[in-house]
Amino acid sequence: MQHNRYSMFGNLALFAGIGLLVGLVIGYPAESMVVSMTLWSTLQIKQFTRLSEWLHKENDAEPPECEGHWGELFDELSRQQKRYQSRETFLRGVISRFQQSSAALNDAVVIVDVQNNLEWWNKAAERLLGFKTSSDRGKPLMNLLRDPRFVRYYQRDSYQEPLQLPSPISNDIELLYQISKFGGGSRLLVARDITQMVRLEQTRQDFVANASHELRTPLTVILGYLETYLDQDMPRPLVRGMTQMQQQAKRMENLVSDLLLLSRLESSRQVVDEHPIQIQSQIQHIHEAAEELARDKNHSFEVKLDQQYDLLGQERELHSAFSNLVYNAVRYTPPGGLIKIRWWVDKEGGHFSVEDNGVGIDSVHISRLTERFYRVDEGRSSESGGTGLGLAIVKHVLSRHGGHLTIKSSKGSGSTFACHFPTEHLTQVIVQDDLDDDYQDAG
Ligand code: ADP
Repeated sequence: MQHNRYSMFGNLALFAGIGLLVGLVIGYPAESMVVSMTLWSTLQIKQFTRLSEWLHKENDAEPPECEGHWGELFDELSRQQKRYQSRETFLRGVISRFQQSSAALNDAVVIVDVQNNLEWWNKAAERLLGFKTSSDRGKPLMNLLRDPRFVRYYQRDSYQEPLQLPSPISNDIELLYQISKFGGGSRLLVARDITQMVRLEQTRQDFVANASHELRTPLTVILGYLETYLDQDMPRPLVRGMTQMQQQAKRMENLVSDLLLLSRLESSRQVVDEHPIQIQSQIQHIHEAAEELARDKNHSFEVKLDQQYDLLGQERELHSAFSNLVYNAVRYTPPGGLIKIRWWVDKEGGHFSVEDNGVGIDSVHISRLTERFYRVDEGRSSESGGTGLGLAIVKHVLSRHGGHLTIKSSKGSGSTFACHFPTEHLTQVIVQDDLDDDYQDAG
């Protein structure tokens, strides 16, 4: 551009020089200068008009042919135009490939802007979520996905866990939603169709529930007959065999009832009939039963319970979870052990823990302990009479109560199993005196 400016001044100087020279020759220098400057200006205006016409034409038109500084200017502009055009073609290609690949995705992908309005979505979002390209762009997401469970999930700040819900257009389609934040407040929502997986899981659950249910009746009959025969006088070898049969049949009965309990727990995600479970007296009962179970082992128990707060939930389920943890502590602690049972409340919520100084668990097993039938030591566990389903039941019960389980253990130095519940599941213990006072106040 610098060069172009010099070339323009050079051209002007040339015209002025010729005008002056001709003027001096013909004796009218001033008039000749005026004529030559007018001529120079007319030429500039003409070139400027050509430039302006070219700029207003379609972008891919070739620039006008021209010499001198105008020619250089046209060439430079033409080069820049070609650079922009090739960049535009490249970016169009990227966008089109992105649109093609996102259209080929089976998962719905939705971009939501900072104001929670729909900005962009792919074809699968139209099929799975029912969005319409023509009318829904710019609409608030919550107007289209209104399920309160989705709204609660969306309004959270962290999206570590995905959310499973039926599609807003059909209850037969099961979706797994996952949200990620990006670009200072925008959100990327991905919804995966998991209908097939959910159906398979349902078939598995139904099979386990039906099989367990069907096994119950024959087992009851077998146990009934065994009990009757064992009550009668029988030859000794027969008694030994029958006693073993009775033990194994009882083990099987426990297994069947744990399997049935697990499939009941799996059939819904949350408990519906929540009420104060009187946790203090529930734990006392479990403690007494555990002392009975540990009679031959001579364990000591230490029980510390917060008396102010009760837990809201399903009493039988929570009893099953707490007793599983306490009975495990009894079973996996050698004679003369110490078992500490605690219930306390802090600003994070309510906590129930069972600590023992028993055999402990190697850290490699800890993450897998809540899997069904996972056993650290097959021999030791079957000796203990467990079903291998206890901790799986605990995990399900807690998740249905919005809680979670933590396990701290090291081989040879005992274990601590703790259940943590959110504050929404706590309630103040109502003491009888308070009730009487309230009644008197009301009176
Ligand atoms: P089980 O019926 O075999 O006890 P669980 O699901 O209750 O099944 O426990 C799974 C495994 O975790 C047990 O087999 C045992 O090896 C281990 N376990 C559970 N509780 C304890 C404990 N308090 N101390 C040591 N090991 C434990």
